[in-house]
Amino acid sequence: MLNLIDPIELAKKTENVVCRGNKRKYLRFGTTPDYKTGVATGYAVGCNLRCVFCWAHETRDNNELVRDFYSPREVFDILHEIIGRNPKIDKIRISDGEPTLCRDHLMELIEITEKSDVGQFVLETNGILFGYDENYVKDLSAFKKIYVRLDLKAGTPEAFSKKTGAIPEAYEYPFQAIRHLMKYGINFGVAAMSADPRFMDPLERVGLITRVGEIDPALVLRLEEEMTVLVPTAKKRLNAYGWKAGKVKYPFYVIGPLRKYVQVSYMPIKSLKKQKVNFGFLLKNLIQLKHGI
Ligand code: SF4
Repeated sequence: MLNLIDPIELAKKTENVVCRGNKRKYLRFGTTPDYKTGVATGYAVGCNLRCVFCWAHETRDNNELVRDFYSPREVFDILHEIIGRNPKIDKIRISDGEPTLCRDHLMELIEITEKSDVGQFVLETNGILFGYDENYVKDLSAFKKIYVRLDLKAGTPEAFSKKTGAIPEAYEYPFQAIRHLMKYGINFGVAAMSADPRFMDPLERVGLITRVGEIDPALVLRLEEEMTVLVPTAKKRLNAYGWKAGKVKYPFYVIGPLRKYVQVSYMPIKSLKKQKVNFGFLLKNLIQLKHGI
């Protein structure tokens, strides 16, 4: 990637296209089975990063081609109507684009949700603007129904640039965002694309986990580690960028015909908290106890 972007500058530039007053561009609305109950989702347009594995790159890179602006009330009414048809669902969210763009739109949508019968507003973010502007996070603390899911992309500044197309200095923003979320008592979780050896080698993963643990060790035990599901267009782009994902051979890939379906991943770091006791280990300790060792 040659020309690295400044995600703060790109946020402003993108907002000029995808925001108009308190309105924002959306491609469509629907549901996904995530967050246990499912979630009514608005697919917003525009982002301030350029991740190589992005699913929403078509609208991200061509946001001027989407023409439909929606006010917060219109977005809420559509999502609320979707929930009405799917009684198990009690959450709404903005996905695809970065929800923290078009701040007025987002704040008004959260405010409407807060006063409604919808259980939760899920805000999935790359954390750039929350790290850059502490007041943005402070303003969120007025709302109780919000759940922020912050997605960390990389474990070093260099890897961050390679994966997101952003300047390495921007690597710090998501970690700063975590500090801000903690400071203002916002309900949040941290996710990372760290379960996938194709996109994060063990050393980078240790670096990322260490950074999270420096902020709060408890966050490490709750870290949602994710695999990267590669849609065909993302694969094409990765090849163009010279990534070898999909061609790298890991031990599981020797399963012949299953190769294309089996994904390998690291043991999740949060499995540490399970404290599984192995029978042999238990027996050894009992024997040692008996002998007073
Ligand atoms: S932060 Fe999300 S929406 Fe933005 S480019 Fe990366 S993967 Fe795509």
